Amino acid sequence: MLIDTHCHLNDPSFTDTLPDVIARARAAGVCACIVPAYDRASLARTAALARQYPDFIFPAYGLHPWFVGHGLDIDELRGYLAQPGTVAVGEIGLDFSPECPPPEAQLGPFKLQLDLAAELHLPVLVHCRKAHGQLLKIIEAYKGELRGVLHSFSGGRDFALQFIKLGFYIAFSGSLTRTTAKKYHKTAAGIPLESILLETDAPSIATETTPASQVEPRHTLEVARKIVDLRSSTFEEIARATSDNARRLLALKTVAVDGRPFA
Ligand SMILES: [Zn+2]
Repeated sequence: MLIDTHCHLNDPSFTDTLPDVIARARAAGVCACIVPAYDRASLARTAALARQYPDFIFPAYGLHPWFVGHGLDIDELRGYLAQPGTVAVGEIGLDFSPECPPPEAQLGPFKLQLDLAAELHLPVLVHCRKAHGQLLKIIEAYKGELRGVLHSFSGGRDFALQFIKLGFYIAFSGSLTRTTAKKYHKTAAGIPLESILLETDAPSIATETTPASQVEPRHTLEVARKIVDLRSSTFEEIARATSDNARRLLALKTVAVDGRPFA
């Protein structure tokens, strides 16, 4: 069984197809999805989905760096995080790509959300683009008070190893499956298996076989198979290790993988 640790089933594009998307995910061996909110409007949608599919959709709540212009309402966020079943603070992060809000607008909301995660003892789901050096410095300042995952990791093996030392996991998405993604291949082959998670970031990231708009949680299987190839491993080993990693980080006590309840 596989766990998609980051997908946006709360994206409006899934509204009409969700029962089929979930059925296809289950048929592909995906037993759970972590669904992070990203803007203010997606908070309520995410909570509703988690109530509708309590054994399959596990919610996270946060304000993504692309949407800091919406304003962070920390009390509203705290209310969502307090709901039973919440697994993480996210999606939060830093994105210093030129088309994004300026770094100085992103840093305040990001740090406030990290503080909240540390206070509530929740892991963080972090989006990071072109900001890995700054992110590392910020996370280092929390000195073991924070744990989490760098989702759809793009920072290369050296950064990955430094984040792992700070207690973070590294998640790979469909970008890893592309034959040209040599830097990602080197990262996935060169870090400890105990730190690797699978995800799709559906519907945002294309795989080698599928355009982004058609990517669903079932494509977690394609990411898993790529890691099997890159590490010369077996499917069983990769599936078991990545699922155990996800359950450990996110305390997914209700997800039994291969019939083994998580202790
Ligand atoms: Zn995302």
